[in-house]
Amino acid sequence: MDRKMNRILITGGAGFLGSHLCDYFVNKGADVICVDNFFSGSKDNIRHLLTDHHFELIRHDVIHPLFVEVDRVYHLACPASPIHYQHNAIKTVKTNVMGTINMLGLAKRTEARILLASSSEVYGDAQVHPQPETYWGHVNPIGPRSCYDEGKRVAETLMMDYHRQNKTDIKIVRIFNTYGPRMAVDDGRVVSNFIVQALQNKPLTVYGDGSQTRSFCYVTDLISGLVAMMEQEDFTGPVNIGNPGEFSIMELAQKVIALTGSTSEINHNPLPQDDPVHRCPDISSAQKKLGWKPQTPLEEGLKKTIVYFQEVLGLTTSPKRTS
Ligand code: NAD
Ligand code: UDP
Repeated sequence: MDRKMNRILITGGAGFLGSHLCDYFVNKGADVICVDNFFSGSKDNIRHLLTDHHFELIRHDVIHPLFVEVDRVYHLACPASPIHYQHNAIKTVKTNVMGTINMLGLAKRTEARILLASSSEVYGDAQVHPQPETYWGHVNPIGPRSCYDEGKRVAETLMMDYHRQNKTDIKIVRIFNTYGPRMAVDDGRVVSNFIVQALQNKPLTVYGDGSQTRSFCYVTDLISGLVAMMEQEDFTGPVNIGNPGEFSIMELAQKVIALTGSTSEINHNPLPQDDPVHRCPDISSAQKKLGWKPQTPLEEGLKKTIVYFQEVLGLTTSPKRTS
């Protein structure tokens, strides 16, 4: 690895995506500083790294300034699941605004390159489909999702303003629904909910009629997209990183039931307010500028994720149908 980019700060490093990034860079021999306040992350995700001399863990909340010397900042700190980010909506806004200002201040002082983990949520309940980066979005500024959606939008604004005003070296990635090992059992997002429910033969909770769509990216594909964007010269983004394979939530439920061999039924719960109807990334920019596209089909990624949750739940074999 190039010595000039050897010191990597990963905020939100004990979370689902952040912990995979920590693994990636420790394996590359980089010096990794993982910063997390453990709101939705867990020490279990990074426990195996704690004795590695290339890895350093700092319990810290990014709404407060941080003084460390680094070359690259992957800024992921922010709860991503709707139940987590709505738990304390004001704190979610603070994390996105004050946290991003603090990390941009750090990047400016150290002349580090900084990448923001933004979200497909900046497109809101999109009226353009699939969503290209040029689409400005359709976001409710005063709803229960706004703390996150508008939080990410203002975080993107801050990134661009630091870039224009201070020449800060920035990268903006809009991440679409990503799943895989190390999602928390109680994360609340759809893939982990369905797998955990299916493995326990409990009803799968489909919100609404399940006709709403999402596009699911496997975690290792996402990590390679983030790293490719960080090391791309002369392109700030924003760039969409996601898997354009689009599935209805009902299709996902049926796939999970089939792959786990579960006896679970499907229950319909109320659709949350402002739940986007369709979501699918246009990844032509990532393909052209980064030479990146996802490699993992949904079934393959689901199988790996099912194995992970079987281990976490202490189930050695999946609950097969008896009849
Ligand atoms: P996650 O909730 O598992 O991880 C977020 C991490 O940030 C957690 O470890 C949490 O404890 C930490 N954190 C939260 N607030 C913090 C604060 N104020 N100070 C320090 N640490 C804090 O979620 P994830 O899926 O790993 O998402 C990581 C990032 O990627 C988030 O910024 C999220 O918005 C973005 N993203 C993820 C997805 C996805 O599908 N996974 C999609 C779009 C965007
Ligand atoms: N969803 C669902 N059952 C669940 C959790 C989520 O039907 O147990 C739906 C949710 O309403 C949304 C989709 O699945 O339409 C994706 O939800 P998630 O919270 O994973 O992500 P986001 O809404 O942020 O895309």
